[in-house]
Amino acid sequence: KIVTEKVLRRRSQQLYDQQLSWQGSPEGRKMMQFRKSLPAYNEKNAILTAVSENQVVIISGETGCGKTTQIPQFILESEIDTAHGASCSIICTQPRRISAISVSERVATERGEQLGESVGYKVRLEGIKGRETRLLFCTTGILLRRLLVDRSLKGISHVIVDEIHERGMNEDFLLIVLKDLLSRRPEMRLVLMSATLDAELFSCYFNKAPVLCIPGFTYPVQTRFLENILEMTGYRLTPYNQIDDYGQERAWRVSKQGPKRRKSQIASAVEDALRTADFREYRKETQDSLTCWNPDCIGFNLIEHLLSFICENERPGAILVFMTGWDDINSLKEKLLAHTILGDPTRVLLLTCHGSMASSEQRLIFDVAPDGVRKIVLATNIAETSITINDVVFVIDCGKAKETSYDALNNTPCLLPSWISKVSAQQRRGRAGRVQPGECYHLYPRCVYNAFAEYQLPEILRTPLQSLCLQIKSLKLGSISEFLSRALQSPELLAVQKAIEYLKIIGALDQNEELTVLGQYLTMLPVEPKLGKMLVLGAILNCLDPILTVVSGLSVRDPFLMPIDKKDLAEASKSQFSRDYSDHMALVRAFEGWKYAEKEFAGYDYCWRNFLSVQSMKAIDSLRKEFYSLLRDTGLVDSNANTCNGWSHEEHLIRAVICYGLYPGVCSVVHNDKSFSLKTMEDGQVLLYSNSVNARDSRIPYPWLVFNEKVKVNAVFLRDSTAVSDSTLLLFGGSIMKGDVDGHLKMLGGYLEFFMKPAMAEMYMNLRRELDELIQV
Ligand code: ADP
Ligand code: MG
Repeated sequence: KIVTEKVLRRRSQQLYDQQLSWQGSPEGRKMMQFRKSLPAYNEKNAILTAVSENQVVIISGETGCGKTTQIPQFILESEIDTAHGASCSIICTQPRRISAISVSERVATERGEQLGESVGYKVRLEGIKGRETRLLFCTTGILLRRLLVDRSLKGISHVIVDEIHERGMNEDFLLIVLKDLLSRRPEMRLVLMSATLDAELFSCYFNKAPVLCIPGFTYPVQTRFLENILEMTGYRLTPYNQIDDYGQERAWRVSKQGPKRRKSQIASAVEDALRTADFREYRKETQDSLTCWNPDCIGFNLIEHLLSFICENERPGAILVFMTGWDDINSLKEKLLAHTILGDPTRVLLLTCHGSMASSEQRLIFDVAPDGVRKIVLATNIAETSITINDVVFVIDCGKAKETSYDALNNTPCLLPSWISKVSAQQRRGRAGRVQPGECYHLYPRCVYNAFAEYQLPEILRTPLQSLCLQIKSLKLGSISEFLSRALQSPELLAVQKAIEYLKIIGALDQNEELTVLGQYLTMLPVEPKLGKMLVLGAILNCLDPILTVVSGLSVRDPFLMPIDKKDLAEASKSQFSRDYSDHMALVRAFEGWKYAEKEFAGYDYCWRNFLSVQSMKAIDSLRKEFYSLLRDTGLVDSNANTCNGWSHEEHLIRAVICYGLYPGVCSVVHNDKSFSLKTMEDGQVLLYSNSVNARDSRIPYPWLVFNEKVKVNAVFLRDSTAVSDSTLLLFGGSIMKGDVDGHLKMLGGYLEFFMKPAMAEMYMNLRRELDELIQV
């Protein structure tokens, strides 16, 4: 032990000497000068003192002030300087892979080293780390995994958790575990870093830990919302209410302000944008007004024209465009490359910045474009706080982001874009004012902004609890409700209990709250358990192709559009897709029709004729691929098979899989003279949402409907239903995998007895019991 200590100490001395000589070299001196110019550097001593005197310290500071790159280095350097250096080992977690890699590269460069000397990184399936590595950047998921096998983080002297303001699920998870650990490891230090000033909450959680603020500075940024952008063009945007069955959904009317106004370039851009399907889901044109419903997917056209407007008319400076995700970025990039100015590499340097890009591509973002060339970066919300691009003067903000995932181990991205928070919008705007006064274009109206949440709700409170419970189990964190009660902000106990109960009913947890085989598969699929169940059974029963469409369709906004003034036409159009009393199967048909039309380049026309949303169709198409690759990772489908060919489209099979997923969402169909009524066990009489294909029929030749969702307004409405037979419900209601068979039977029996003659129910139950026994064998 003494020998190793000596070796380590000698190595520390070497590291120290090496740094000294690097800092004396010309590049090293330049780098030190840069580092010293960062706001964090002024606080170096205060930070080091706080860290040595307190077990937990919270540091907040404006994005770009040097938290991520400098603070771990301060600690490393001070440890190397002192005798303790021999044994220091610092872990700094990042919410995303890309920032773990790029930050470690940057820090190594700042120290004149290669990666793998004193600085390294580790992300899933990848990493560079040497024997001498003292500072390791990793994803939060990696540290969680390590905690699974090494509960007390032996040998780690400092844990730094970065970007805690994002309140990601992994980070909140990690804090619960670390809080436990602190008392067992009194010499270990914990540093939390945040880009926003709401550090009080964290301070309270950690026993009034001290908060250090690094003062920052940004130049003023001129802000324009959609109506201001339109005003520049002679158009006016007014709200226009579209009423649906549940209440109100906003829509907008854009009208010309006066015929005499000169038409600028932007004016035609806006007009174009409004005319194309990707801005509006449905259009209605009168003489001088355009009405657009649901403008929540902003047209690429508008962005394209704004970009070319800035390139041609505005002063120099890089443009940063915030998009929702990788697929959007790619499609926009393709479009821009075909543009005369934007696609010309002698005039524009077009770059992308998202979580899954290669690190060689990553470095380019930080380069300054040559004179006369405009740098444009298309980025996800990763550029909001994790990555700082220095020369940005213009920001275009689409207002949406794909929310981060709940898959704690695999860090798989979640799938749906949604509106960002006010704080995020401010962060995005702030990116424009780092080097000089800047400009920000928000591609949504101010009143939409006003309705944004103040902060993003922490992920732990916004992801479905059922999935959260499954994650806790897969991480082996003990009792679900006990664990969650110790979170920074805990979900309500009753909601947790309900979620656990649901998971038992569907067969994901057994009576002792342990994961069943089905449950284990579900933790690998970052979707709601009911959708996960459909994927699993769809793969097993070899009918995955239609099931991928059903599941993707349930994950996006309803693709069937119901404009108020053409409701009848739209409903009739939907029912032509349905022959089998199923909204889900109607969707499959509509999608398959679209796929076919797309091949002939008539996809847009097809949607237009059939009241379908092009955006939703495209989203379904890309989700199908994502789900398929997730399923391949689970091993449920052959990893060599690339396509969905050879899958069955047998109607009863699909019905069975849908039933398996949606159970216990079941209601019984009671026929009267001319029509039917619906009943569930909990609510009694329920009604169908008017755009359901089943609402248009007066007879349903099946005794049951399984449904996707219940919505309570003045009555209880069911959304998206599929009719199923006795035998389908009997065989596929509940779990057919090894689980709590008796429990399911009791539950299912409850349903049957409630709606049937007892003798009949008993017969069915025996049948099911026999079948289950058969399956168990
Ligand atoms: P924070 O974590 O406080 O947001 P960082 O430590 O990430 O700030 O970055 C501090 C500064 O270092 C940034 O303003 C940027 O100028 C610079 N920087 C960070 N990463 C790189 C890089 N890979 N290449 C060049 N400069 C970088
Ligand atoms: Mg940072």
